[in-house]
Amino acid sequence: MYKISLITGDGIGPELSESAVSVLNTIHDKLDLKFEINQLQAGDLTLKETGHALPTETINAIKQSDVCLKAPVGESAADVIVVLRRMLDLYANIRPAKSYPNMSALRDDIDMVIVRENTEDLYTGKEFSLGDSAVALRIISEKASKRIAKYAFETAKQRDSMKKVTCVHKSNVMRVTDGVFAKACSDISKEYPDISFEQMYVDACAMNLIRQPHQFDVIVTTNLFGDILSDESSQVVGGLGMAPAANIGDEFALFEPVHGAAFDIAGQNIANPSSFLLSIKMMFDWLGKKNNDTKCFEVGEKLEAVIFDLVKNGIKTKDIGGDKTTTGFTKEITDKL
Ligand code: ATP
Repeated sequence: MYKISLITGDGIGPELSESAVSVLNTIHDKLDLKFEINQLQAGDLTLKETGHALPTETINAIKQSDVCLKAPVGESAADVIVVLRRMLDLYANIRPAKSYPNMSALRDDIDMVIVRENTEDLYTGKEFSLGDSAVALRIISEKASKRIAKYAFETAKQRDSMKKVTCVHKSNVMRVTDGVFAKACSDISKEYPDISFEQMYVDACAMNLIRQPHQFDVIVTTNLFGDILSDESSQVVGGLGMAPAANIGDEFALFEPVHGAAFDIAGQNIANPSSFLLSIKMMFDWLGKKNNDTKCFEVGEKLEAVIFDLVKNGIKTKDIGGDKTTTGFTKEITDKL
């Protein structure tokens, strides 16, 4: 019996969480995979109600679970997800960009993954004012860079694809910090002679994601660049509504959509739950690998296949050209499961 903790979030978070719980309950009842879900509070509303964006009870409950699902949170994201990533040492942020059928996307033959370093860079919160200026510390260590590079090469090795890692940085300008990152990736590449390795400046990468996205397999990059490039890559394959993500450490993992709380569409029952449901697919893959549980892999594959079939047949939410509501699309999924 797996213990899944679920942060229900802000904006469209509660709607996506409702969809996730409905799909998980169906999996539990119909596909015979046993788990329990513990719904937890964190984010803007929790901050308003309790004075803490990430209450101690939520942290303790997450630590007692096997895995965590997190719907998007709003303005307090830095006090929730950035803190959790560092606290639980979830050093690898995995953001796949994969083509699904029947999207109004730039191309329909994309299968890449962005492996983003998740604990350093400008996301450590070390910012301060200095006279009339503001300063942010960009921290890049050899240890964290080598660890994420290794993760990227292992990912490329396991993927049934081009076997290529592209290290993205800006070491011509940030010579010291990105110098460390680029060298760490280059050093690790020597341990993987069967995987081709290239380096690319982040501006060139942003352009190539539009110009020739099919040429990417695994992109490894630093925290901020990874955040920006993954929003871009998700748009290349059809939009944020289809973009899942994983935050992975050696012992624990947290799964969440790439996108934020999308307040502009909150409460309208039009959000695409696929980003969260495909994150659940990633969660089952991780649980399957960690526990050597083939049932988890089967369930994850089935969930993705159901979403694939629905969008292929034009059963889609508004963001990707359909007319299904969040609850309507969720019902189509649970019926098919
Ligand atoms: P953040 O900075 O917290 O990542 P953001 O301001 O970049 O947030 P998002 O919330 O990530 O904005 O989303 C950008 C836009 O994409 C939203 O305003 C919304 O219109 C659209 N969007 C995001 N997620 C979804 C979804 N699941 N379904 C439909 N549309 C979405």
